[in-house]
Amino acid sequence: MKLSKLFGKTTKEISDEAESANHRLLIQGGFVDQLMAGVYTYLPLGYRVLKKVENIVREEMVLAGGQEILMPALQPAENWKQTGRWEMMDDLFRFTSYYTKKEFALGPTHEEVLSPLAKKFNSSYKDFPYAVFQIQTKFRDEKRAKSGILRGREFLMKDYYSFHSDEEDLDKYYEKMEKVYDKVFDRLGIGKETYYTYASGGTFAKYSHEYQTVTSAGEDMIYICDKCKIAINKEIITDLKNACPKCGNKDLREETAIEVGNIFKIKDKFTKPFDYRFISKDGKEKPVLMGCYGLGISRLMGAIVEIYNDDRGILWPKEVAPYDIHLISLNSDEEAEKVYKGLQEEGFDVLYDDRDISAGEKFSNADLIGIPIRLVASKKTLAEKSVEVKERGKEKTDIVKIDRVSKELCDLLDKK
Ligand code: ATP
Ligand code: MG
Repeated sequence: MKLSKLFGKTTKEISDEAESANHRLLIQGGFVDQLMAGVYTYLPLGYRVLKKVENIVREEMVLAGGQEILMPALQPAENWKQTGRWEMMDDLFRFTSYYTKKEFALGPTHEEVLSPLAKKFNSSYKDFPYAVFQIQTKFRDEKRAKSGILRGREFLMKDYYSFHSDEEDLDKYYEKMEKVYDKVFDRLGIGKETYYTYASGGTFAKYSHEYQTVTSAGEDMIYICDKCKIAINKEIITDLKNACPKCGNKDLREETAIEVGNIFKIKDKFTKPFDYRFISKDGKEKPVLMGCYGLGISRLMGAIVEIYNDDRGILWPKEVAPYDIHLISLNSDEEAEKVYKGLQEEGFDVLYDDRDISAGEKFSNADLIGIPIRLVASKKTLAEKSVEVKERGKEKTDIVKIDRVSKELCDLLDKK
């Protein structure tokens, strides 16, 4: 992609409201545009990152056995009245049709659609367990939409639901999903900062579990046990007598964090209101049990920026970077164009700064956008049939012969 043609531009202007790093840097880097509080357009650069996060999550959910579906965001009020959440849920967007005067909700989560849907297909013990998931735009009337894409009123979520014929099976599945989640965070480059966190379980289980990523932009307070590498949400720390539930350690480290995902045994909370039961092997009717597993796709993208930034801009982890390489031409457009085409033919995703602006501006834009590798093609390097290679996170630059650059880039990017 040529920067001269890219839809969306880097900008120095930024509103005073943009306090968090992701809010500021994603707007300044031309990744997103804010339509109103908590509502964003993903511009080409930002959409590429969002898609990469989404695809990593999708791959792992499919590997876990989930089948992908897409449920409607527009939902009838009746389903929400049936579970009591029409009245109870503060952040549910509700509205009335101008023509029919019927009431509707915009989906903040999808148990109310999925339970009656699943009931249509799977009601024999032979059908269990099974799981479906979706990656979809959710709507929530958040009291305060803040911290950029960490808390939106419209945001992208992955919601995965498993269905079981008994508790033992649900417990087993839940444990499996814990491992799946760990893998997702590792692949996204935030495994080290993300803690499996004990949180309140509501009325149905002793605990639920959240995945909390440590960042000053977070809204939650967690207490980390460095021995077990787990955390406890502040909301239950006194119930747990200020000690790690695994090892009893009381020497816990307090941090602010953002909840990027959670897993929950909701059992029959949402199957019961829809009378979703199954016929067991011995011919008896029994309640269907559910597990729910959420991940905030857009929030994850924001959390990655919160972790990977410096005073010059973003440092995208390779797996989610919008492009592999940021190529800069310094007064040598014809030759740089050849390098650009060559790299693309070799399978690299290249963002090519072919604009007629100063070198300083090109360099500072490259740092702001944060693509893992910067290549500079100038008269000087090209005279030696070379380009300059620099990693975003490092100060060191290397001069590499053009015929060897592909190999070098593969090594740096862990590509084959
Ligand atoms: P929070 O406590 O942050 O409001 P929640 O408990 O309401 O989160 P869930 O209903 O469990 O969140 O949603 C699943 C996941 O969706 C969360 O773990 C989070 O990553 C993401 N998420 C929730 N609300 C938002 C939001 N307003 N904007 C972006 N992502 C969100
Ligand atoms: Mg919430």
